[in-house]
Amino acid sequence: MKIVFLGAPGAGKGTHAQQLMKELGIPQISTGDMFRRAIREETPTGLQAKSYMDKGELVPDEVVIAMVKERLAEDDCKNGYILDGFPRTVAQAEAMEEFATIDLALNIDVPAELIISRLSSRRMCAGCGATYNITLHNSDKCSTCGGELYQRDDDKPETIRKRLDVYEEKTAPLVAYYREKGLLSTATLLGTIEENNEVVRAALNKKD
Ligand code: AMP
Repeated sequence: MKIVFLGAPGAGKGTHAQQLMKELGIPQISTGDMFRRAIREETPTGLQAKSYMDKGELVPDEVVIAMVKERLAEDDCKNGYILDGFPRTVAQAEAMEEFATIDLALNIDVPAELIISRLSSRRMCAGCGATYNITLHNSDKCSTCGGELYQRDDDKPETIRKRLDVYEEKTAPLVAYYREKGLLSTATLLGTIEENNEVVRAALNKKD
C-alpha cells in the first residue's frame, strides 16, 4: 500500500507512521528525517536545506522532489511505503504523479490547541530519531536505544508559529486536492496513543 500522511506539524504523523511501518512491513519515508540526516552528514542537499529548515520554511520543491524520487526507486519501496512529510505543496503532489501512484492520503486531524503544546514538549532521540513527549517520558534518554534526547531547533516557539503558518498556506490545500481525487481518509485524533492508533488503523480501510 502506498500511503501519504497529511497533517500539521505536531499532529503525530511521525509517531503513527512508525507504528504502521512495523505493522504493515513497509518503510516510513520522512523527508524531514532525510534532511536532518543530510545536514548531519553535510551533504550538498543538507547544505541547501539547512537555512530553510532553521527558519521554519519549506525547502524548495525541486530539491525535495528529486530526493523523494530517488528514494522511492529503492528496492524496499517495491511493496509500498508511508510518505511522512511529502508532498507538502500542490506542486510536489503534481510532480509525484509522474513517478508514483498512491492508494490513500491519510489526513491526521488534531485540534490546533493540542498541536502547539505537543510541539513545545516534543523531544527527539539523537540516536534513532524516535520522538517523545517530555510531559509523558521521565528521562532524557531514549528507551529504545539509550540515545540522548534533544529539542529540534525548529520546535522552539518562534519557529513553531512560522511552521504552522506555512502549513496553512502551502500544505493544507492538499486535503482538498486528495479529496477531489477520492483518495482522502481522515483520522481525527482526540484520545490516548492506543485509541489514536486504532483510529488510524480504521482510516486505512475507508475513504471519506
Ligand atoms: P518535518 O520533520 O516533517 O517537520 O520537517 C522538518 C522541516 O524539513 C520542514 O519544516 C521543512 O523545512 C523541511 N521539509 C520536510 N519535508 C519537506 C517537504 N516535503 N517540502 C519542503 N520542505 C520539507
